[in-house]
Amino acid sequence: MTNSIGTKNMIEIALSSGARFLQGSTSEVYGDPKISPQDENYHGNVSSTGIRSCYDEGKRFAEALLFSYYRSFDMDIRIIRIFNTYGPFMNIDDGRVIPNFIKQALYKNKFTIYGKGNQTRSFCYVDDLIDGMLKFMFSDDKNLKGEVINLGNPEPITINELAIEINELIGNKMEFDFVQLPEDDPVNRCPDITKAKNLLGWSPKISRKDGLNRTIDYFKAILNLNQ
Ligand code: UDP
Repeated sequence: MTNSIGTKNMIEIALSSGARFLQGSTSEVYGDPKISPQDENYHGNVSSTGIRSCYDEGKRFAEALLFSYYRSFDMDIRIIRIFNTYGPFMNIDDGRVIPNFIKQALYKNKFTIYGKGNQTRSFCYVDDLIDGMLKFMFSDDKNLKGEVINLGNPEPITINELAIEINELIGNKMEFDFVQLPEDDPVNRCPDITKAKNLLGWSPKISRKDGLNRTIDYFKAILNLNQ
């Protein structure tokens, strides 16, 4: 919930200085979506009491807050909903699937698959995401005021397939350790990026193979595995 208090503080500053406000929201506002891909009009399927709810509902509340300022004060607010993103400078121990799998492959450990591994995600390389953020933030197109745009890679992959792909790039023994699926883990998540294409002329350029190779090189360097 602290993220919505932070948003409130930031938006007050933006209001008093007449600044444009770009909110980094999240695909988590869609919860465990019942439709795929998700477009910006989808209202989501979120548990208000589940283990992810502080983050999900905090971000949803922040969006509601921004729209309230937009309607009341005609502020130039813009919202991006960021889908799964990865790349160099991620924390290798942050627990997300790409750092986990790369580390497991580099150290020849089993891949930890939560649940059956047939849930899907769509992974966007960080440079593509930043390109979309900058395009949205710095465009003077008046039509972008009060818009919500999904930014992410629209190519879904199952978690099992992701492990296979990372295994092929690094070379591991390809063993899976199936562990319990966390509560409220979304079954599918995939952005509909039609709006980003139409309004910003944006779409991701970096293939998953290229992005994963760059991320693997980064992790090898920080783990001193280059020799
Ligand atoms: N996951 C997994 N093994 C791991 C880490 C994550 O199978 O070691 C799964 C997780 O349950 C989820 C997906 O990979 O279904 C993506 O998880 P991540 O934490 O990267 O992002 P999320 O989409 O959950 O925000």
